[in-house]
Amino acid sequence: MRFEFTEEQAEIKRAAREFAEKEFTSEKGREHDEKYEFPWEFYRKAGKLGFTGASFSEKYGGQGLGCIEACIIAEEFYRVDSTLAAILAGVGFAGLVEKFGTEEQKEKYIPRICKGEITCAMALTEPGHGSDAGMVGLDTKAVKDGGSWKINGTKTFITCGDIAEFTIVCCQTDPNASPPHRGVTQIIVEKGTPGLDVTSLKPKMGLRGAPQAEMAFSDVRVPLSNLLGQENRGFHQIMSYFDFSRTPIAASAVGIAQGAFERALKYSTEREQFFQPIHRFQFTQWKIAEMAMKIEAARLLTYKTAWLIDHKPENTRLITKFASMAKAYAAKTGIEVTDEALQIYAGYGYVDSDMERFYRDARILDIIEGTGEIQRYIVARENYREMNLPLP
Ligand SMILES: Cc1cc2nc3c(=O)[nH]c(=O)nc-3n(C[C@H](O)[C@H](O)[C@H](O)COP(=O)(O)OP(=O)(O)OC[C@H]3O[C@@H](n4cnc5c(N)ncnc54)[C@H](O)[C@@H]3O)c2cc1C
Repeated sequence: MRFEFTEEQAEIKRAAREFAEKEFTSEKGREHDEKYEFPWEFYRKAGKLGFTGASFSEKYGGQGLGCIEACIIAEEFYRVDSTLAAILAGVGFAGLVEKFGTEEQKEKYIPRICKGEITCAMALTEPGHGSDAGMVGLDTKAVKDGGSWKINGTKTFITCGDIAEFTIVCCQTDPNASPPHRGVTQIIVEKGTPGLDVTSLKPKMGLRGAPQAEMAFSDVRVPLSNLLGQENRGFHQIMSYFDFSRTPIAASAVGIAQGAFERALKYSTEREQFFQPIHRFQFTQWKIAEMAMKIEAARLLTYKTAWLIDHKPENTRLITKFASMAKAYAAKTGIEVTDEALQIYAGYGYVDSDMERFYRDARILDIIEGTGEIQRYIVARENYREMNLPLP
């Protein structure tokens, strides 16, 4: 495994940093946070520059890049401002369409995602089912009725659910399936379909530029051709997609930690107490060293995982294990480092600074796409499996 970026990857890193630093400011980040506003202007610009289409194939207007490049972009955007990075939330789940969709579905949606024209969403979580969504049977049901799917149920916490052009909805289509997740199907529902009621969820702690919505489906009808991938294979499709998408989330946590760290580093040389800059105190140096070590460890684990994904090992369980390790470790690092960075700013971090936003925004990365506890369960399970020991 290489420990340096290729020339092309280094160039992508430079371009992503330049875009983020030039286009985004603290004031804009704060404004979007206060107004709970998706940064459409930057989404469109990112589309024009190829960032939203980075991971999609060139055939559909993307850049055809791999997981390492997706991680580089996520890290650089989050380092500058997590509100800017909210734009990545609008893109991510279109990867399911590219991986499992029909030619018609791909041509319909992916070029517009790559251009930054539309966003999409994926709805798995329900009010009664979070970590166990899919495993014990979903309350959202879809049945074939005439020439259409008829969907009933409620989804919650759906990122971009209120602004998405289309949502990939996970439905129980076979209530008798055993285990229940073998009866889950993904169906595409477009914005404005009759019977779909969408409510924005506020207030919330952080990442307010990336909105969440509750989506209620009442006899929502869509054509049978809106099936995504295979009937009753929806849960498998999501899990195989999470094996990829959890790694850019880990990179996002590395980026948010790096951004908070750099700010704290600088502040510690400027703020004076006891007639000297606070970086002269060994306690501050110790904090800085701990933060630097944690970030670097999280970064190495994240990029090793991305490298594995790009090199497609025969044993795909290795990817499952590494993606969970990277996400769990990096998300914890994001939380710990933003906490310590805020401590270095102390009162000025708590009041009227970017730091309180970084601290709030980092928290979610240990919850989405499987909580830290679920990631640790996966890591433990895969280690028992590798040793041919009984699974927990
Ligand atoms: C901002 C935000 C964005 C989101 N975006 C989306 C989205 O786009 N699409 C979507 O479908 N969902 C989305 N979600 C939902 C998210 O995936 C869930 O919140 C998450 O999976 C956890 O579910 P829960 O909140 O119901 O917690 P629960 O599952 O109720 O868990 C509660 C606690 O119990 C622990 N726990 C549960 N089961 C176990 C276990 N077996 N072992 C150990 N501990 C366990 C959990 O780790 C947690 O600490 C989003 C959530 C938020 C807050």
